[in-house]
Amino acid sequence: MEKIIVGNFKMNLEKEEISNYIKQIQKNRYYKKAVYCPSFLYIPYFSEKDIPVGAQTISSYNEGAHTGEISAKQIKSVGASHVIIGHSERRNYGKETNEEIYLKIKEALKENLKVILCIGEKEEEIEKRKEVIKVQIEESLKDLPKENIIIAYEPIWAIGTGKVMNQEEIKKVSLTIKNIVKESKVLYGGSVNEKNIKSLAKIEEIDGFLIGGASINPEVFLKIIEVAVTM
Ligand code: PEP
Repeated sequence: MEKIIVGNFKMNLEKEEISNYIKQIQKNRYYKKAVYCPSFLYIPYFSEKDIPVGAQTISSYNEGAHTGEISAKQIKSVGASHVIIGHSERRNYGKETNEEIYLKIKEALKENLKVILCIGEKEEEIEKRKEVIKVQIEESLKDLPKENIIIAYEPIWAIGTGKVMNQEEIKKVSLTIKNIVKESKVLYGGSVNEKNIKSLAKIEEIDGFLIGGASINPEVFLKIIEVAVTM
């Protein structure tokens, strides 16, 4: 099965770099096989060229007096099809709670956006991982319809650290998640790169990957996409 590949650029790349990035990826036949999540500013640069694009978060409000916020409706209106919600950096620095994440997901679903819900345990929570992710999933999704939800399991200690989770563990967690949310698609995220993608892509229990650092360089990201979609 072809894997789902999502690139999270975080707060990287400026206007010229984004234009060059797009020129670079367009040289490769597989470039439309990934969803690119740049800063809000650059979403139209991708959508206008018919390249799958998503946002890195949205507001939990629909519209109105929320200075500096960007709504689900607004990202949809500039061509985003996906949105990452609950990334650990937002939970950590933005103090996002499961309740707020739930409200954001609700807004995204109203606009028919596909939601990439990020969950994962901190290093000190490894022993109680199952419990931690169960609470994150249940409190973030509650009774919402699940068809447009993709769950990105990202152990926080593996994000941007070069430490990749052991493959047997990845399989186990994915099955646990699929048990909690029946039939859900599960992505793995955490230090995926062009070197480890070959072996990670063989894990059948995983439906794809959420990639941070390695998505910022177009050549590196394309290598990853190519391996993941042609295996
Ligand atoms: C991420 O931020 O979602 C992520 C997986 O980052 P990295 O690939 O750099 O570990």
